[in-house]
Amino acid sequence: MTDQPWSLWAQLTINLLSVAFFISLWANLQFWFAAAIRPVRHLLFGLVMGLGAITSMLLSIQLYPGVMFDLRAALIAIASFFGGPASGLLATVISAAFRGWAGGPGMLVGLSNIVLAGCLGTLGYLAVGKNIRARHIVMLSIGTGAVWFLSLVALPSSYLSPSLVPLVVPVIVLTVIATIMAGLTVLQTKRAADERVLLRAAIAQTPDFQFVKNERSEFVAVNREVAAYNGFDRPEHMIGLTDFDLTSADRAVQLFEAEQRIVTTGQALLDFEERLNERAGERWFSTSKVPVRNEDGRMIGIAGVTRDITQRRKLEQDLLDSRDLLNFAVSEMADGLAMFDGHGNLTFCNERYRTLFPRTAHLRQPGVHIRDIMREVVRTGEQANASGLAAEEWIELVASSLATGGDEQVSLFDGRWLHLRTRATPSGAAMVLVSDFTEIKRSEEQAISMAGELKKLAATDSLTGLLNRRSFDAQLELAFEDSREGSSELSLLMIDVDNFKLYNDTYGHIRGDECLKQIAACLLGAVRGRDLVARYGGEEFAVILPNTSARAARETADRIRHEISTIAIPHESSPFGIVTASVGVATYTASSADMSDATDLLLVADRALYTAKANGRNSTHPRMA
Ligand code: GH3
Ligand code: MG
Ligand code: MG
Repeated sequence: MTDQPWSLWAQLTINLLSVAFFISLWANLQFWFAAAIRPVRHLLFGLVMGLGAITSMLLSIQLYPGVMFDLRAALIAIASFFGGPASGLLATVISAAFRGWAGGPGMLVGLSNIVLAGCLGTLGYLAVGKNIRARHIVMLSIGTGAVWFLSLVALPSSYLSPSLVPLVVPVIVLTVIATIMAGLTVLQTKRAADERVLLRAAIAQTPDFQFVKNERSEFVAVNREVAAYNGFDRPEHMIGLTDFDLTSADRAVQLFEAEQRIVTTGQALLDFEERLNERAGERWFSTSKVPVRNEDGRMIGIAGVTRDITQRRKLEQDLLDSRDLLNFAVSEMADGLAMFDGHGNLTFCNERYRTLFPRTAHLRQPGVHIRDIMREVVRTGEQANASGLAAEEWIELVASSLATGGDEQVSLFDGRWLHLRTRATPSGAAMVLVSDFTEIKRSEEQAISMAGELKKLAATDSLTGLLNRRSFDAQLELAFEDSREGSSELSLLMIDVDNFKLYNDTYGHIRGDECLKQIAACLLGAVRGRDLVARYGGEEFAVILPNTSARAARETADRIRHEISTIAIPHESSPFGIVTASVGVATYTASSADMSDATDLLLVADRALYTAKANGRNSTHPRMA
């Protein structure tokens, strides 16, 4: 108790320090109780503010016993302004209880001072809500000052003495200052706490592994993922641990040294990939660690983020494996393979592709354009140009085929045949597959020529090489149909060698065969190109004469007989001394009512031959008129 103004200020300053102490006590406590539910935190706030108010009262200035001057109003107003009704009520009740217990003549005024401060804070809380600004705190502090003023006015008049006057100003001023100071501190702490909650939530809720370590590589903060990965229920349980507590000593040393390098050099470690063998199998992680500096730029730790990239690595590995497999397949394949880009430049080819084109192999390299390759093909004559186009046109055609695709067979200078399959890809590139099918081509050619031979064999008579009976029948039918449709004449000669049995008997069968061959040659020599000569059977022949009148046919018949007599094959058993033949002639015309098909024509010719024989052989029937 003093009446010196400076000591009043000093005592009130001590009071102000007690206010500051309780505010800072709360600022620290609230981080400890950050995890507690909101009502608990509010009640705790009210309790601390209430205890602060009591302390302030214990340190109060008492001019008269029981009349206290202190800064309690500031803390009670702050308790209800920031903490709401529950917090405010608790602080008010605690303070009021103390004030009541302290008693004295100023008790009622003191109690009303407490209640007014509590009401003021609560009103402010209800009016401003959560979005508290500095100006609200200024208004609150003025209000708190006003509460004191009202309290002084309400003091019993017996205490209102001139000695009180020097006290009024310091108490009101310091109450205002205390309220502002406490309010701003609580506001600042609240903001910091909110920010912390936001940052923690952000870290805790990211799917990646996030952690912060201090410069000694101790975990300062980790998110849920990191905690769960290391087998902890809550992230807080990892705080203070190091990698030495979590992993093998070797790995922990490696991690520690790498982190120390970051802290000492200030250089971040980015996308460091690590493979870990775990019970569930192999897993891959990518970690980035960056140095964390404080405001002075001093390195105070590291912040890290680790991502599980097992899936990505697996995909990459699968891709590599399949690329290796593909490379192997491509290099070992029997066919040549080349890829061209959309501009016609070769982008890839296997070795086989080059060896298939020995004269241009040196140009078939990535980066070379198809036109340049084809120009070299033309220059070296590597490939036969079967298209008949001029060189440049042909080169353009080949170049454009990359875009259209297609199948092509080409023959090379050395007799090989290549099959080129060109396929355009959806991206505009082209793939060319080249296979050597020389062997196939050869056997195909052989098969074709063999088939031709066989066909010929099936159609010809083996002794004379003339058409055989079977193909004669078919040809005669065709010729008959043609004549009937075209209303043209068709003649048929049936030729039979005279006394041939006697020839065989005289000269033997071998000479007989020779004779038949000579006669066949005579027949071929006596007819026109379009006429068909056949061996009808034994020593009988037939000649189909398309577009030939009866007269012309008889002339041909006589010419044949003339030819046969000209070669004069000796036949001593024949009355003619040489081999002769008899010929029956038949002609179909549009007016031949008696002939409806080829058989009819054959019958007529046969009958005519019979007549020729009957007429003494070596003759034609019907004869020339
Ligand atoms: P004709 O004047 O009446 O025709 O008397 P021909 O002896 O010629 O008539 P025939 O039909 O009696 O005899 C035909 C002979 O032709 C019978 C056969 O020995 C002979 N012959 C048939 N085919 C062949 C053959 O392929 N080679 C040989 N060497 N002789 C054949
Ligand atoms: Mg005969
Ligand atoms: Mg005969």
